[in-house]
Amino acid sequence: MTFILCGEALSQPVIPTPLPDPYWVTFSADAAKLIGLKTTPANLPSDPAWLQVLAGNALEVADRQFSTPTATAYSGHQFGMWAGQLGDGRAILLGEIQGQEIQLKGAGKTPYSRMGDGRAVLRSSIREYLCSEAMHALGIPTTRALAVVGSKKTVVRETLETAAVCTRLAPSFLRVGHFEHLASLQMHTEQKMLADDLIDNFYPDCRSSAAPYLELFKAISARTAQLAAHWQAVGFCHGVLNTDNTSLLGLTMDYGPFGFLDQFQIDHICNHSDAGGRYSYQRQPQILHWNMACLASAMLPLIEQELKQANPTQSEADLSNAAQTTLRSALAIYPDIYQAAWETHFRAKLGLLTIQPDDVPLIEALLQLMHHNQIDFTTFFRHLGDLSALPGNKQNTVLRDLFLDRAGFDAWLDHYRARLQQEHSNDQERKQRMNLVNPKFILRNYLAQAAIEAAQADDFSELSRLATILRNPYAEQLEYDAYAKPPPPELNAIEVSCSS
Ligand code: AMP
Ligand code: MG
Repeated sequence: MTFILCGEALSQPVIPTPLPDPYWVTFSADAAKLIGLKTTPANLPSDPAWLQVLAGNALEVADRQFSTPTATAYSGHQFGMWAGQLGDGRAILLGEIQGQEIQLKGAGKTPYSRMGDGRAVLRSSIREYLCSEAMHALGIPTTRALAVVGSKKTVVRETLETAAVCTRLAPSFLRVGHFEHLASLQMHTEQKMLADDLIDNFYPDCRSSAAPYLELFKAISARTAQLAAHWQAVGFCHGVLNTDNTSLLGLTMDYGPFGFLDQFQIDHICNHSDAGGRYSYQRQPQILHWNMACLASAMLPLIEQELKQANPTQSEADLSNAAQTTLRSALAIYPDIYQAAWETHFRAKLGLLTIQPDDVPLIEALLQLMHHNQIDFTTFFRHLGDLSALPGNKQNTVLRDLFLDRAGFDAWLDHYRARLQQEHSNDQERKQRMNLVNPKFILRNYLAQAAIEAAQADDFSELSRLATILRNPYAEQLEYDAYAKPPPPELNAIEVSCSS
């Protein structure tokens, strides 16, 4: 809990507001293992006292006491504009177990709630729970979700909804916005403490560098670039990639109006409130790069200090120029790391083991074809594994039939088959490999919506089923074939807003 070191600048104590008559909506026995929490065969905590703790109604369970719940302050750039101080307006950190911070999202007002009510609705809590656990199962770095606790307490959004608390776990919930916050207050000593703690706990390799803070910046950037590439590879759209929602550990965090691509639209916007498409699918990698530029700017004083230690006689002006140049060069590494990671992901999605000069044009031609033919992203890549390298094989017509532009697909397929001939692997072995990277099951909006509507009517079975399926997204799970299907046309365009 790094921020506690920084005192009031970054955190304040806050007691959760009780949630009346709480009940379990869902619980992740898998996430519970992270904090060594024992569970019953019904996948609930063995100690029922956890329900009151995760509702924000108690701070004690068995021999454990969460004596200093806190909320943290951070600032951020929202939709490209400096927004000033934000902070955990509805998330309260209970404490830490086994290196995992335990955070109650929706547990009432904090000193940083501004105009908000400190609550989260059942709908958004279920979405966060499902997606955190689904992303983890896909192999993508993310904060985790331990549970959703519900209540009949009503909260006002566009309509009246019921409140819920989603418990999140992460080694740290630190964001780019934490550095920006301290930078905006010119609290350089605290910035240094934050950076040191990040290095000690999460980036220990940076310590041996001659310039540990610069190395830290590069390491955060590298993780972020890799995260962006991973999102693109599964068609995940975050929706609100503000700097306050950008993790310093390279985790996916703050699930709001996110969405997975159904039909491949390169400029898909999943957030109904993002009219300009700042956070569209294709812009995510460059937006995260932009967020790294905000981090660089916030870390500038640290880099200056670092340079000063190495060159004590240099003037302030020279040091400042040198720090800016150094950070600019460090920032320039991001696109290369992103591109390399993106190529690795998409080569694997195509089942290619070797690297050939024309691979990127081959991948890009496919994506363009998919865009123009509105092909379901997940279904296509999953079925691509069934495709035979041999011309004329009838399996190939299944994919071909998805395209309106059959001639375009045939031309691409000729190239792809020719490329497969350069690989020394047979169809079956390639399919096995591709199935490990092309998921069959993703959290499609219409599936989440069905689980939410059932839960709103107090039936949690659909939520439980969906969570179970998404725990093994790469497995066939034939009995759940229906859950792999693209949305029916009438459910194709569920709009998700920021309201949560
Ligand atoms: P988000 O877009 O969910 O990441 O939230 C942006 C900021 O608004 C964060 O500082 C949140 O803590 C805050 N916030 C969102 N909803 C509420 C709420 N209902 N009550 C208080 N603060 C909120
Ligand atoms: Mg946020």
